[in-house]
Amino acid sequence: MLLKLDKLKELAACAGLELAGVTEAGPLDHMLERLQRRRSEGRTTPFEEQEPLRRLAPEELLPGCRSIIVLGLPYLFPEPRQRPSGKSAGPRGLVSRLARGLDYHVVLEHKARELLKLINRELAGPIRSRILVDRSPLLEKELARIAGLGHIGANCTLITPRYGSFVALGTILLDRELERSAPAESSCRGCGACREACPTGALMEPFILNPARCLSYLTQAPGIVPAELRSYMGGRLYGCDLCQEVCPENRKALQPESGKASFPFFPAEPLLLPLLQLTRKEFDQTIGLTAAGWRGKTILQRNAVIALGNCGDPAAIPALAKILKNDPRPLLRLHAAWSLGRLGGTAARRHLENSRLHETDSTVLAEVNAALSMQPTPGRAPAVFPAANRDDR
Ligand code: SF4
Repeated sequence: MLLKLDKLKELAACAGLELAGVTEAGPLDHMLERLQRRRSEGRTTPFEEQEPLRRLAPEELLPGCRSIIVLGLPYLFPEPRQRPSGKSAGPRGLVSRLARGLDYHVVLEHKARELLKLINRELAGPIRSRILVDRSPLLEKELARIAGLGHIGANCTLITPRYGSFVALGTILLDRELERSAPAESSCRGCGACREACPTGALMEPFILNPARCLSYLTQAPGIVPAELRSYMGGRLYGCDLCQEVCPENRKALQPESGKASFPFFPAEPLLLPLLQLTRKEFDQTIGLTAAGWRGKTILQRNAVIALGNCGDPAAIPALAKILKNDPRPLLRLHAAWSLGRLGGTAARRHLENSRLHETDSTVLAEVNAALSMQPTPGRAPAVFPAANRDDR
């Protein structure tokens, strides 16, 4: 029996999934050239499958795969209208919309399992299947386009008619034939607002992203953030929504029905200083429950240290000095040195000079020396610090 598309959407809605479409499981050969160019130009990340052919072949993930259901989970959660205010509370960071609620991997996977149960019942299983949420080598956005969920914008996001680009994606691979959706028409206006909004020029050309300059990627990337890009990170702790926030296609984006009951686990603009003190347990019970959790405490704290350097507030100096002096992690000491140099002033210089007496890591020492030669920027507004969570929709 061929499962009709309308029935599939009805079952998806029963499982709490507002966006679902179906595509065939044939190889995505038309994307090969694009992937090869991406690789030859060094625009892949350590988080993705490096071999282009493996990104195009569902059969490798589920032998006998015949259909792919693509699911979308909107995440434009309702948030408190009242922004926490009061400078006395201390400098604040910025968390992208995707990482403010319960980890979408968990939510989407749970809903996908529910949907699979319903499909099994409808088709009188057994059905062989595989659920993949984000950690799939397959090109999820392209599959979503072919499955009719939306179109791909010049900012390289999938833009859905109802929820804009604030949608997380997942797939279910099945060994059954399902009625297919029609691909979505592109409605990207080519207005260029996304490229203009990106302060690092990560959107090199329309539809071409250089992840090495993408602020969202930089907040997740392992290791040392390139010094020339740290000031652009502003207060970002995880992700970046700039190219999405300016997109006119997102102005009409709706809040998901299923999001009405959700609440943020990670505020949009958390206080930075408490993040430096987080215990493992506190991390696991808060940020660890969001999509930002997978990068771990150290990467989040590295970003908080950079954000403090960018906040222009000398109140951050004691905390940064403490990290530079005592933190066992060279990665944090190194970025703390940069942040002290960026904040500048007598106290920051004194801490940097003192650290030369006891610092043993040569990479950190080099950063301390570089920080001492930086032009002080006390009280200066950083390049891209969150002016606001522009619309707390
Ligand atoms: S900002 Fe303009 S060019 Fe960029 S994705 Fe949106 S509509 Fe397309």
